[in-house]
Amino acid sequence: MVAAHQTAAERESHLSVRIPRSATDGVVLERVSKTYGGANGTPVQALGEVDLTITAGEFICIVGASGCGKSTLLRIIGGFERATSGTVRVGDRVVDKPGPDRGFVFQDYGLFPWLTVRDNIAYGPIERGLPRGRVQEITKQFTELVGLERFADQFPHQLSGGMQQRVGIARVLANDPAVLLMDEPFGALDSLTRQTMQEQLCRIWQELKPVVVLVTHSAEEAVYLADRVVVMKGGPSHGIPGHIEKVVPVPLSRPRIVTGTKFNALRREILATIHAPNSGDVSPPEDG
Ligand code: ADP
Repeated sequence: MVAAHQTAAERESHLSVRIPRSATDGVVLERVSKTYGGANGTPVQALGEVDLTITAGEFICIVGASGCGKSTLLRIIGGFERATSGTVRVGDRVVDKPGPDRGFVFQDYGLFPWLTVRDNIAYGPIERGLPRGRVQEITKQFTELVGLERFADQFPHQLSGGMQQRVGIARVLANDPAVLLMDEPFGALDSLTRQTMQEQLCRIWQELKPVVVLVTHSAEEAVYLADRVVVMKGGPSHGIPGHIEKVVPVPLSRPRIVTGTKFNALRREILATIHAPNSGDVSPPEDG
């Protein structure tokens, strides 16, 4: 763990070798659409044309009802899914496949069960062919960053869900991604652990400052974490492609107080947008 008595400058110099790329790369989505081939040959237009510009170091949360295309959008940024049209750029690189500049954190942690915490975190740096000493240094840094130094020799099945997710985050961050993509990363955790993880993610993001794009069902989680909350709506079941309905900036200092008046006003604004009828919805019949 980074010692509490360290100054911000000391922390920065301690981390500076790893963060130059993260500090400068933003993400630009231009007219990104996605149409899947449906089971019976009917095309399913999951996403309309989505435009979004994310600046370097920005924390974005994507919220919206099931089926509005949140995961599709995240997978396209990750390069796991090809857009039907449009482009995604990270810095000046066009995304057309997964790459080390984008780390993906999954809800089910995505750990190798046969490797210890240390070896899970070391996996990426070893694959990248870094010298042994550097791998050890990086592994130590990230094990400490997520507060798991005492558990470095344990296997994933010996850890709680929250601890496993911390390893999941550390192993992705150890690759020094410019962009951290997270799909409902805390969805499987109990509410107390989830809260702790949100606090820790905030702290880690503030230290390393990658772009974070995190998909969540929770408006509260989004307001707690994000610089801007992207609210999506629509989706094939509503008869209109998934799209960005609204982008809500969160101009609150961190750590945020979830019971605060401004916090709650933003949470309500986001919920109202999510729950408003879609333009393609058939209105319920009127009474009488
Ligand atoms: P969300 O993450 O918001 O729940 P998804 O991105 O998973 O939404 O899905 C958006 C829409 O695209 C849904 O209607 C879903 O059924 C459809 N969809 C997602 N993946 C596929 C696929 N591989 N093939 C066909 N349709 C898909």
